[in-house]
Order: sequence, then structure tokens, then C-alpha cells
Amino acid sequence: MEDCIFCKIIEGKIPCAKVYEDNKVIGFLDISPNNKGHCLIVPKQHSTNLLDMEEEDLEATMKAARKVAQAVSKSINPDFNIIINNGKSAGQLVFHSHMHIIPRFDNDGLKFDTRHMKYAESEMQEYAEKIRNHIQ
Ligand code: 5GP
Ligand code: ZN
Repeated sequence: MEDCIFCKIIEGKIPCAKVYEDNKVIGFLDISPNNKGHCLIVPKQHSTNLLDMEEEDLEATMKAARKVAQAVSKSINPDFNIIINNGKSAGQLVFHSHMHIIPRFDNDGLKFDTRHMKYAESEMQEYAEKIRNHIQ
């Protein structure tokens, strides 16, 4: 993909601090980390997000994410978040599928969600049904 920054990193046209590579996936440090050691796990085949990824890329990416997470856990701190920002409203900035592995420390001040809503009566069942009806 032209003009895709992660495709350029995969092709070696832009440098990265690589932490992992196999035939389907690459892992490297995020240039602007939430905590130091923040890694990105990226399938080599271009897709936009989780929903248009080939299943075999998804599988390879998740396996690589666990390997890197284990290494982060051993080398930096045991706890971490694995996050996918899927789509613009969810904070996705780079439209080449990827997962974040973010090392976490006690009281590190990093916050993803500060809001918890309440369902009205029967609303919870309605949402569950809406989603269930679209499981394929
Ligand atoms: P998103 O918000 O799309 O889930 O996350 C994209 C991430 O890619 C951001 O955290 C950003 O810091 C990182 N990023 C953007 N451009 C580059 C780059 O050229 N090199 C590296 N290593 N990370 C990048
Ligand atoms: Zn790409």
C-alpha cells in the first residue's frame, strides 16, 4: 500500500526498533509510547483493521502478540494492556491493522476509560439481542 507508514516500515523503507519478526508479522516499539517499552504488533499483509484482516493473519498476529507480551512481561514489568483501536472514533490513527502491547506499572497514571454507564431496565437484554442476531 502506497502511503501506508506501517507498510513502509515492513518494507524497510522507514527504520524501526524491531522486537519481533516472523514470515507474517513484525513487532516494533511505538515511536510515541504510552509507557516505555510500548510495542506494536503488525501483520505484514496490509489490511485496515481487525474486521478486514485475513483469519490467518489474525491468528499469526495474536500469537506474536502473546510472545512479545511475555517478553515485555519478563523484561520490563509483569503487567500489560493489549489494545486495538478499531476505527477513527476508537482512536485509530494508522489504518494498517495492529495491536498495542503497553507495559503497566502500579499508579502509572495511564487511563483509557473513566466513564461507566448504566443501562435502563430491559435495555441490557435489547443490546445483547441486537449483537447476538449478528453473530455469523
Ligand atoms: P493507533 O492510534 O492507530 O492505534 O496507533 C498508531 C500508533 O503508531 C501510535 O501510537 C503512534 O505513536 C505509532 N506510530 C505512528 N507512526 C509511527 C512510526 O513511524 N514509527 C513507529 N515506531 N510508530 C509510529
Ligand atoms: Zn499498510
